[in-house]
Amino acid sequence: MYDVVISGAGPAGSRCAEILAKNGFKVALIEKNVNWRKPCGGGVSARIMSKYYPQLKELNPLRLNGALMFSAEYYKMGYSWEEQGTDSIIMDRLEFDNFIRNVAVDAGAELFDKNISFDFIVKDQKKVGIRTKTPDGVKEYLGKIIIIADGMSSKLAVKSGLRERWKIEDIGLAKCSILEGENNLEKNKMYLYFRRYKGYGWIFPISEKRFNIGCGTFAEDNLKYNLNQIFDDFKNDPNIKQYFPLSKYKEIWTGSYPLSAIGVLEKSLIKDNIMIIGDAAGFVSPISGEGIHPSIVSGQIAAEAAIQALQSNDISNRTLKSYKQHPYIKKILRNFKLKRSMVEFFYENNGKNLDTMFKLAKDDIDFRDQVIKMFFFNAAPSKEFFAKIRAS
Ligand SMILES: Cc1cc2nc3c(=O)[nH]c(=O)nc-3n(C[C@H](O)[C@H](O)[C@H](O)COP(=O)(O)OP(=O)(O)OC[C@H]3O[C@@H](n4cnc5c(N)ncnc54)[C@H](O)[C@@H]3O)c2cc1C
Repeated sequence: MYDVVISGAGPAGSRCAEILAKNGFKVALIEKNVNWRKPCGGGVSARIMSKYYPQLKELNPLRLNGALMFSAEYYKMGYSWEEQGTDSIIMDRLEFDNFIRNVAVDAGAELFDKNISFDFIVKDQKKVGIRTKTPDGVKEYLGKIIIIADGMSSKLAVKSGLRERWKIEDIGLAKCSILEGENNLEKNKMYLYFRRYKGYGWIFPISEKRFNIGCGTFAEDNLKYNLNQIFDDFKNDPNIKQYFPLSKYKEIWTGSYPLSAIGVLEKSLIKDNIMIIGDAAGFVSPISGEGIHPSIVSGQIAAEAAIQALQSNDISNRTLKSYKQHPYIKKILRNFKLKRSMVEFFYENNGKNLDTMFKLAKDDIDFRDQVIKMFFFNAAPSKEFFAKIRAS
């Protein structure tokens, strides 16, 4: 019998397992495949290396000191965070995920690879564990607390009764590739391209010759646009192609995957002895699609709630609710709500408001300041800010 069984060893599950194991609890960390490279841009916020995983410095990842953002009409806005001394990094997700998985294992968590969780074990109408499919047949893992961390396609999240399957208009769909070859990208900048559809494209340099390129749609535009087509269009757009002008680039890897676009469903985070964390719970920032940081935060705080519950011998939602009531989780939820409220405004008139916003920011320093605070510091823009865009 484990204290905690965690389904999914991505960033959320691995962080959760690490904290629990470090505090002396017996943890089973169940993973379908440690060789799976999660489709992702690999943009990792500065807080991850400074606060959660200082060990990442050993890998000497590519550090970013700024972003170049473009509207659909290619109005450009650059921002450098160099003087703040913070370092966001870009990583290959296969390397990142295995690195933080190993941190959890080194802390004492037991990792079970090649295990696909597919159902709960139910006893006396209580969920007491997880059933998995493995190459050697069905296995069972009993635990006092069960944590669902197996991402967007989580079957357990739905079977737990905490939430329904995602609707197509609640999600984003994105595709990306890692390409290798001579390119003229600025190596310490991320490139973000807003498009006419709800969604955006990106190019993130990974090393001298490698870069991650991708794009995606969200909400109702998932149904209006074909993902493969917009990905090809994005790669071949002359404004994008100028950075990698050779006729052929080595494709290291390509993949596509959904992500939540509506933020966290607050009511569906906990029930007696069960918690949902990371993508499975919607911890992805609407608009930007940043999910690694919020997922790791959710994993950490769920672990702290589980520790409190196990120590007080009360694993009911009375104790576990400290997870969803935690100030950091509340802050993430507030921030996601703000982003969602801005989506319609940004993309009305096929993204023209973003064109106007970047155009205005070119000549108006105060306005530019507000745009930066909104994108990079989660500040809510003023009413005048919106009025100025509409009036232009
Ligand atoms: C195309 C794309 C680009 C993105 N780019 C960025 C970016 O640049 N920066 C950023 O911060 N975020 C980005 N995101 C979001 C980010 O990838 C996620 O928010 C983050 O990976 C969430 O972590 P997680 O641990 O919750 O879930 P996941 O990373 O999805 O991990 C879930 C884990 O569970 C395992 N698993 C799944 N099903 C089962 C099962 N049945 N049994 C056992 N194990 C299972 C998986 O193998 C995986 O290891 C992107 C998302 C997409 C789709």
